[in-house]
Amino acid sequence: MFENLSERLSGVFDKLTKQGALSEADVATALREVRVALLEADVSLPVARDFVKSVQDKAAGQAVTKSVTPGQQVVKIVHDELVQVLAGDDADAANLKIDQIPAPILMVGLQGSGKTTTTAKLAKRLKDREGKRVLMASLDTRRPAAMEQLAVLGTQIGVDVLPIVPGQDAVAIARRAKQQASLGGYDVYMLDTAGRLSIDDELMSEVEAVRDATTPRETLLVVDGLTGQDAVHTAENFDGRIGISGVVLTRMDGDGRGGAALSMRAVTGKPIKFVGLGEKMDALEEFHADRIAGRILGMGDIVALVEKAQETLEAEQAERMMKRFQKGQFNMNDLKMQLEQMQKMGGMQGLMGMMPGMGKMARQIEDAGFDDSVIRRQVALIQSMTRKERANPQILQASRKKRIARGAGQDVSELNKLLKMHRQMADVMKKMGKMGKKGMMRGGLG
Ligand code: GDP
Repeated sequence: MFENLSERLSGVFDKLTKQGALSEADVATALREVRVALLEADVSLPVARDFVKSVQDKAAGQAVTKSVTPGQQVVKIVHDELVQVLAGDDADAANLKIDQIPAPILMVGLQGSGKTTTTAKLAKRLKDREGKRVLMASLDTRRPAAMEQLAVLGTQIGVDVLPIVPGQDAVAIARRAKQQASLGGYDVYMLDTAGRLSIDDELMSEVEAVRDATTPRETLLVVDGLTGQDAVHTAENFDGRIGISGVVLTRMDGDGRGGAALSMRAVTGKPIKFVGLGEKMDALEEFHADRIAGRILGMGDIVALVEKAQETLEAEQAERMMKRFQKGQFNMNDLKMQLEQMQKMGGMQGLMGMMPGMGKMARQIEDAGFDDSVIRRQVALIQSMTRKERANPQILQASRKKRIARGAGQDVSELNKLLKMHRQMADVMKKMGKMGKKGMMRGGLG
């Protein structure tokens, strides 16, 4: 059913009118489909509604990039917004807070969510990537099999597991883990709490007691990414009662569409730190918002397409400029555009250094103490010229020069320097133009 989603969306988008800007009607049509897509991807209704509304404001009136359809562009806007909501401000969500020794990490979640597996995966990650000494402890006193499972995984990945002492309750085991971690020189101890098939008061009370006994630096909720809306309820419940610091979404190797991630982020505001991508011990990855966003929309290709089209647009501008140079045209507007481009591309020297035949000029510029504040002042001078003056700088006589310099709050001598630079550059451009594009690409002027 999901496979056809992108086709269906494309079908709708193809019918949209192609015009200069996204019309409200275009956006509304596309967003209706996007909303359905979100709901099908298991995003909860209120979250989908809020989300679509915020996209609507952003999309209306945006210029349509050539060579993509308005619908495709809407998808790109939706995608970017998804990434933003999913990632929030948590650029380094995957960095766990290990700022005390030993640092307790509390693992919570329902039975079968992948809690024990994730505990071991994380322990392995901390050991392999950060060189941490980790101790794991199972607090699942009602399920000896779960305790045994953690012991087996520990052996497999080479991480120590707290020995089982029959008859101890969860809090007693947690205290013993803390003590053992301190005495044994461990950096981290991970507590794999008991799960239940559904949330109940007894479970929550037990986890609360463990939390109070250890004051964890991280409390990670493990949820099954395939359970959709249930996962969101689980997250709300655990966060309300225990207070979680982040989420690990498991089974993202399955064909769930990741909508739960969006709802969970929107509802709890807690970062998704990792995703589980399989049963193997290294099938754990940092959370990548763009991958989940692509998955929710099922339209990764379109995002890439729009990005490509935007690049092409810039390339088209450069091409137009090149054509002007080839005709020997280089007026103040061109110079202004160049100066602004230079500011974007790391200053004058950086850009000149990249252009064939400009090496000498780059050195002159350097000798003259040229930097970006100079570029800004030069742009100001050009802005102070009339349209006619920009197109034909040769008409600049003394009185015009005085007016322009005054308008930019600078001396006429500054303007003269700018004009001299313009003449030099125009010369070079003319020579380049004569040689044609091929000659330039070979660096023939060098
Ligand atoms: P717990 O009851 O929450 O401790 O869950 P377990 O850690 O025992 O995991 C239950 C099952 O899910 C096991 O068979 C795991 O191998 C499997 N599992 C856990 N995480 C993932 C995952 O990210 N992807 C897949 N495909 N399976 C997973």
